[in-house]
Amino acid sequence: MRARPLAFVFLSVFAFVAHAQAQSAPSICKLLDALRKAFSQFPVTVERAAPHDSFWSCLKNWELPGCVGLQRINVSGVWPGDGSGGETTGIAALSFVYYWISLQNSQAALKKNPVYPPQTTEDIKALAQLLQAVGVGIGNSSAHELGHQFAYTFRINMDRNASGGTPCLKGDSNVFEPIGASSWQYNQVYPDIHWEVPDGVCAVQQYFDESYRN
Ligand SMILES: [Zn+2]
Repeated sequence: MRARPLAFVFLSVFAFVAHAQAQSAPSICKLLDALRKAFSQFPVTVERAAPHDSFWSCLKNWELPGCVGLQRINVSGVWPGDGSGGETTGIAALSFVYYWISLQNSQAALKKNPVYPPQTTEDIKALAQLLQAVGVGIGNSSAHELGHQFAYTFRINMDRNASGGTPCLKGDSNVFEPIGASSWQYNQVYPDIHWEVPDGVCAVQQYFDESYRN
């Protein structure tokens, strides 16, 4: 069995600008860390994309045919109409995770809401913690949205706690599959949060394993 050399690519647009480029570094670091850990059991590479990676820039960098195989999550600075942390739509899966919702959820999770720009040492510390939680939250939400992308090809039980869904096996709720991020997800990375065993793990494995795809 040969692992498929796919890469995840991040397109960070709009969102981080509002908090100044320099301030966003801890978020992006934590985001990549959380997402890499989410897929550390699988043959997957996680990268940050250039903000405007396009088909043509892929072509220019000799990344074809990888370009068409890349899973991409767009981190968006738009305020979503329904207040959800992320969504995946379209005939070819298009995924968004929303920065402002992650910030709001991080404030609730850490019970911190420092003034901006920070005035005191306490404010600076709280802001740093918030930005790290934002990154972890976006990373975990991205893993969830990628689960929806996998569901286009393989059966994976996403949003299972939505009405009419089936509860998780053995009551394990510390998984990527449920709908709606909890505060807990802004502090935890793999292995504390993980794909459900065995069904979720199996589906993700299948998705990335060439022998299942051909
Ligand atoms: Zn979902």
